[in-house]
Amino acid sequence: MSTTASNESASPSASADGGGGTMDTLSHEHRSFPPSAEFAAQAVAGADRYEEAAADRLGYWAHQAREVLDWDQDFTEVLDWSDAPFAKWFVGGTTNAAYNALDRHVEAGLGDRVAIHFEGEPGDSKSWTYAELAAEVRRAANAFESLGVTKGDRVAVYMPMITETVITMLACARIGAVHSVVFGGFSADALRSRIDDAEAKLVVTADGSWRRGKPSMLKPAVDAALAEPGHSVAHVLVVRRNEQDVEWTADRDLWWHDVLGEQSDEHELVWHDSEHPLYILYTSGTTGKPKGILHTTGGYLVQTAVTHRDTFDLHPETDVYWCTADVGWVTGHSYVTYAPLINGATQVIYEGTPDFPHTGRWWEIVAKYGITIMYTAPTAIRTCMKWGRQVPDAFDLSSIRVLGSVGEAINPEAWMWYREVIGGNAGAGTKNDDGSVTPGARKEHPAPIVDTWWQTETGAHMISPLPGVTATKPGSAQTPVPGITVDVVDEAGRSFEGAGAGFLVIRDPWPAMLRGIWGNPERFKETYWSRFEGMYFAGDGARRDEDGDVWVTGRVDDVMNISGHRLSTSEIESALVSHPIVAESAVVGATDATTGQAVVAFVILTEESQADGAVDPVQTEADLRAHVASEIGAIAKPKHILVVPELPKTRSGKIMRRLLKDVAEGRDPGDASTLSDPTIMQQIAESLRK
Ligand code: ATP
Ligand code: MG
Repeated sequence: MSTTASNESASPSASADGGGGTMDTLSHEHRSFPPSAEFAAQAVAGADRYEEAAADRLGYWAHQAREVLDWDQDFTEVLDWSDAPFAKWFVGGTTNAAYNALDRHVEAGLGDRVAIHFEGEPGDSKSWTYAELAAEVRRAANAFESLGVTKGDRVAVYMPMITETVITMLACARIGAVHSVVFGGFSADALRSRIDDAEAKLVVTADGSWRRGKPSMLKPAVDAALAEPGHSVAHVLVVRRNEQDVEWTADRDLWWHDVLGEQSDEHELVWHDSEHPLYILYTSGTTGKPKGILHTTGGYLVQTAVTHRDTFDLHPETDVYWCTADVGWVTGHSYVTYAPLINGATQVIYEGTPDFPHTGRWWEIVAKYGITIMYTAPTAIRTCMKWGRQVPDAFDLSSIRVLGSVGEAINPEAWMWYREVIGGNAGAGTKNDDGSVTPGARKEHPAPIVDTWWQTETGAHMISPLPGVTATKPGSAQTPVPGITVDVVDEAGRSFEGAGAGFLVIRDPWPAMLRGIWGNPERFKETYWSRFEGMYFAGDGARRDEDGDVWVTGRVDDVMNISGHRLSTSEIESALVSHPIVAESAVVGATDATTGQAVVAFVILTEESQADGAVDPVQTEADLRAHVASEIGAIAKPKHILVVPELPKTRSGKIMRRLLKDVAEGRDPGDASTLSDPTIMQQIAESLRK
């Protein structure tokens, strides 16, 4: 599975302007996989989607808005951009997210369809039909109102991955309260600053949940967050999940089951303006301090539902969908809580980690529920690669028919593995006496992969293949989704004619776009709209290839300048990951006296190669440097390759290169508060001292 025919030219084409915002392209990835005829024939979205959107972009969105949502009052204007960059979509329309997600399906006779299969880490499970979930949301809406929460109030949600989290979000939406979900892995301080920023009246939490077989607590962090007076919170509503003892503050703390138990499951529906705020959510914090992103109702729901239907080729009557993202991230908001339910899909929610009680847990879940559509992140795929293919090979994954990726650029090697090992599985393999597994039957046409580029700020997919239309390419998100206009521009904001590499921008407003940064309109303009006149700049670099397909090359802050060549991190990382002993890698440019910057690579070895004596460290470094040179060119050869036990990642699983750059340049790493494991930087420092 080499990414290139090796020994291609050792020097990449130099950038025409010596570094004026364009980038050198090193990747030689040229594979592509058209959809099978059978897949294309049954696909929900065909090429006509692109044609319709190209002919009349706003007309297309108006059509889709009436297709995927029920409106009480129809909208009178599709887009009001008169106060740019503050957009209003579906102006004058009124709707309700919770009604669209639940009640209307029950009214349409689909009440018995399963909405959520909940799978707890300890192995408990519960299936919720649309009728049951709708009733519980109405009960929760009554409960929140009984606690004094009204339209426009903010509710902080600090929860594990359980059904009550979705119920809480939808109950907020039903009454028009604005939720602010804070990822359950965040500290008391992070929770407090988000509670203060939004002035939340209510906090919904749980005693805790289960992680790797042990109780993982949440309520103590809420107690700590609220210990200092001066906050806005009147009540803390606590779901009982792991049944551990928790401290209790009388009058403030209430059990979920007590409060909901007293409520009726009838609740009068109110309609909300299309632009009514739906939620606040903070970005992952990969590059710095998280920003409180504001999303509103109509446009957000329309674009999330349309993309969920088309990107994943959703057939709600038969598909079983599983998105592994935590609801604390935007992926969990758009593609767990909102879009799947708006679309009437059946989905799985899993509480725990992929490796408990064994590394095959995810694949066991796929087989148990017959998952047909799976949506996960490159970091998870690379972790599964590190554990080895014998793990998934032992399971029957034949139900899978669409695979999605989100969160980072996916290395071509990881993409191919995802396709062949997961998407190509047509039945469980056989276990051999020595513990190895002989793969089972393979599919003639592996499941298509959709690599979806988007952000907390964009709310929904922006660039992604359509699985029944696009010939997919390993490592490329490829095509703007119908009705979206993205561009790749140079330093001066000029589009490239033909192929080129520079900055990824969005030219036209889109329905699910952020409406601002909570409480800070100036920061919104400054952060996203000031780099290029009249364009939204997302902070990411990209290149466009000869076919017009977009390859996201990573954050522009991470671009390296090596002897006047501007190189992206992702291509070098992908070259390293294509070597059989490398499971993951992160590349940074460190200041260098001779070349300006030098490539420094951090790598994690596969589990096999980590065994004592399996590889010789000195030889490894030489091998990997030679491998990068042959895969993509001598200019990209890392000056140093450091084998480390782990890479610093945000809690959403993204590599934080900024901290590695500090290490490579001999500085103390800066703010690491959004790291998933705060000890990682120490572990790396220690492993480098050895
Ligand atoms: P912060 O903005 O605080 O630094 P963040 O950008 O990591 O945090 P998110 O909104 O969760 O927060 O992530 C969006 C970013 O993730 C994108 O800007 C991009 O860099 C990366 N990304 C997401 N999906 C893809 C993809 N399919 N291909 C390449 N990059 C992706
Ligand atoms: Mg970002």
